[in-house]
Amino acid sequence: MFEKLPHSSPVVPTCVHLDAMAVTTRRTPSKRASAPRSTAKSLSRSSSRASTGRPRKTSSTKSKASGRAVTTSKAPSPHYEFGGPIGALGITTVLPIVCYFLVYACNEDGCVEVSKLVRGERGAFPGFPRHMPLATVDGAIAALGWIAFTVLAHVLIPGIEKEGVVLPDGSRLTYKLNGFRVFVATVVVGVFGTSMGWFDLASVHDNFLSMLTAMVMFAYALSVYLYASSFGRGKMLAKGGDTGNAIYDFFIGRELNPRILAGAFDLKVFCELTPGLIGWLLLDLGFAAKQYAVSGFVSAPMILVCAFQGAYVIDALWNEPAILTTMDITTDGFGFMLAFGDLVWVPFTYSLQCRYILENSVQLSNAHLIAILTVQCVGYWIFRGSNSQKNLFRTNPNDPKVKHLKTLQTKRGTKLIVSGWWGVCRHVNYLGDWIMAWAWCLPCGFSHLVPYFYVIYFGILLVHRDGRDGEACEQKYGEDWKRYCAIVKYRLIPFIY
Ligand code: NDP
Repeated sequence: MFEKLPHSSPVVPTCVHLDAMAVTTRRTPSKRASAPRSTAKSLSRSSSRASTGRPRKTSSTKSKASGRAVTTSKAPSPHYEFGGPIGALGITTVLPIVCYFLVYACNEDGCVEVSKLVRGERGAFPGFPRHMPLATVDGAIAALGWIAFTVLAHVLIPGIEKEGVVLPDGSRLTYKLNGFRVFVATVVVGVFGTSMGWFDLASVHDNFLSMLTAMVMFAYALSVYLYASSFGRGKMLAKGGDTGNAIYDFFIGRELNPRILAGAFDLKVFCELTPGLIGWLLLDLGFAAKQYAVSGFVSAPMILVCAFQGAYVIDALWNEPAILTTMDITTDGFGFMLAFGDLVWVPFTYSLQCRYILENSVQLSNAHLIAILTVQCVGYWIFRGSNSQKNLFRTNPNDPKVKHLKTLQTKRGTKLIVSGWWGVCRHVNYLGDWIMAWAWCLPCGFSHLVPYFYVIYFGILLVHRDGRDGEACEQKYGEDWKRYCAIVKYRLIPFIY
């Protein structure tokens, strides 16, 4: 689903001033752009990444019977992912239900009883807790106020400017990046506001469902806007999002880089990092604050999950430029998939473990805690090591840290690393990320399956994402990718898969 978050990046771990913003709007010509126009056009046509938004070409033939012109579409049949339009409709409908279901199935009144479920008995699910209404004005104000705050902070706080990858028309966009500064501003405003009694972080627990409802509605509204605005003139469309099927294109995302404020505000990069990621951490901290308010302490499992996920979020924000080379930004359009993923799925499902620990008061032995810490360290070592190695290699291959690596020269011009982390398996960075996912779930103990939702879902996401990237690399590298796969045989887990 949700080839969401970026963080992670390399570098990062890979899931933002007015004067500066004015500069970010300009499209700078790249080296490729300086090629003759025809070359730039053919680059554009052959690119697997985006189309220009012109209607697909059709050819006209004469009907033998009537002699009238008949329009026959010669466009290749669209390449669908996620099960095509039916899959897209299903995912668009089911995802919000999953978010609510996780609360319905597990909360302070209990967790789904699998034995009852299997026997078909009633009362297997605890249902929604009475003190968590599905929609309230306070919840809507909190959620939409948060979006408004991050938008304002993104616009007002100065950021660095970075160029993105070369676009199919040969140009490059510049991006204003200030996610880490927005995070710092959030901490400052949060601490000050709390000391003044303006906010109560612990209230996120009671408002969880109503904030979820507000964000679900906001994500749908944003997706409708994104889809409608993608039909404007001069829009660059993601190739995969221009199939002509409205349901599918709405889901997968039509426009590649939608921008507002005269091109100064890049909606996709903003949503990828700022409101959802920081919002996720705020929810975690809100659950910890509630635990403190109720029991006078914050438990070790809660501290572990907040620390692990907090480090992940801060890592992503600190290494923000790495997002510009991720699949989400370079390839996918901005539609429901990413909008919902960024704004709803990440904060409201990734914070499940902290909510569970708050509601189920988990106790763990020191040995258990040390084992979890070890799992996290191993995962982070692989994740950061591999992402940083590739990022450094892609940005400065002569750096002494990566110069010694064995590589495969490709006809495309770039090299693929075949030793070091990238000789272990083709997506060793995903493996590290998934190991960390275990460390985020294990603090929930072993009484229930529901808090393991993240590690299960994320495993599926990474296998699917590995397949998508493999396809993209096969398109990019052709025969060289096959040679690479023969050298680095395993996809995600050495000697197993
Ligand atoms: P990668 O960072 O793995 O990037 C894939 C690209 O890297 C390929 O397309 C190719 O591009 C290049 N590449 C692949 N193999 C090699 C090699 N051997 N040598 C050099 N370059 C190579 O993918 P993602 O952007 O998907 O993931 C980045 C991080 O984000 C990961 O750590 C992932 O776990 C994390 N993530 C987290 C999510 C979450 O929700 N928490 C969701 C999705 C991702 P090219 O050759 O063109 O440079």
